[in-house]
Amino acid sequence: MTTTQPLIFRKGLDMKEAVAGELAAAYHSRLVDEVRAGNYRHESGRLTIHLAREFGFCYGVDRAVDYAYQAVARFPGRNVFLTGEIIHNPHVNDRLRASGIRFLSDPGEPDHDLGPDDVVILPAFGITVQEMADFSKRGCTPVDTTCGSVLNVWKNVVRYAEDGFTAIIHGKVRHEETRATASQALKYPNGRYLVVLDRDEAAVVCDYIRNGGDRDALLARFPNAVSPGFNPDTDLQRIGCANQTTMLMSESLEIGDMFAAAMRDRYGEAVLATHFRAFDTICSATQERQDAVEELLNSEPVNLMIVVGGYNSSNTCNLARICAARARTYHIADPDCLLSAEKIRHRPVGAPSTAPAAEVVTENWLPTSGRLVVGLTAGASTPNNIVGQVIETVERFASA
Ligand code: SF4
Repeated sequence: MTTTQPLIFRKGLDMKEAVAGELAAAYHSRLVDEVRAGNYRHESGRLTIHLAREFGFCYGVDRAVDYAYQAVARFPGRNVFLTGEIIHNPHVNDRLRASGIRFLSDPGEPDHDLGPDDVVILPAFGITVQEMADFSKRGCTPVDTTCGSVLNVWKNVVRYAEDGFTAIIHGKVRHEETRATASQALKYPNGRYLVVLDRDEAAVVCDYIRNGGDRDALLARFPNAVSPGFNPDTDLQRIGCANQTTMLMSESLEIGDMFAAAMRDRYGEAVLATHFRAFDTICSATQERQDAVEELLNSEPVNLMIVVGGYNSSNTCNLARICAARARTYHIADPDCLLSAEKIRHRPVGAPSTAPAAEVVTENWLPTSGRLVVGLTAGASTPNNIVGQVIETVERFASA
């Protein structure tokens, strides 16, 4: 008996025009278009807002959201599910719920016996190999919005596994993208991975590569961050670096250099290529947004920076880290966080993006007199209408 594999929608659903109006109504902002056209500058009385030249929705998120709306239009009368948040933006996810898409991850959502009638949208940051196999087994129809830049990382991780290299992934171990990427290594029986969050964790592993040490202590330092059966004595002999696409680029490059130096010290320059590989897998959209905010801060003296985006959005948190190193910075989830000219609700910069969102309220955040210059950027999962509402609210408070 032959089994028919369900069709996987990866290149659109031929409903682009049908949903274009709905998408524009939900996420477009005329004000943002005007600010862009005005050299990314918005003047109003004593206020000047400088918008970063790259901000907001990236190509991967744009496509994922578009496909989600297309899926609803293409499959009327069928259950359309998302595996979880399509991107890390509460507004976008709530709008998708309102359009009839159900989230398998929602607490109120009962366990589903998914079957051939069900459509499942896979998010831009991908799902694990095991989850994909499960959906295939159940025969449901996947709409795969995994971003091409994430697929590029997977390609490198699979190649590492094929060639007997352990993937060292710079990422957040609980982030969906990193879990999906790590799972790619397990497509091969000897595939291995280890996830490092930052320079400190990289330094611990580099020290083990150079000097060896207490194997159990090392494993205890990385709970849930290594492949099953990971043995640091054998699995760190050949390594390849990769990263979650939304990490801080400067940090990822530095971590790659740290591992290269450790392997060079351990095995010597002559044979380095047989022990160490690296590819820059930060996506271009993340890089452009990080570069744009540096450029803004280099060219404009600002009183403060506002960074808009979900608190669990890795790329937004990293934009906030860049800004906070140079200026007073407020990471807000949406315009409602701008409580008044006196008070702002925001997430302290530097708290891990995988931790529950702990907000604080800061008083006297907006200088009340004199010239006021505000820098503004938004993470890759923040739509323009939210950015536009932030501009309008700051303008209102500055003129009060
Ligand atoms: S942030 Fe980069 S990898 Fe992630 S969806 Fe956007 S373009 Fe793709």
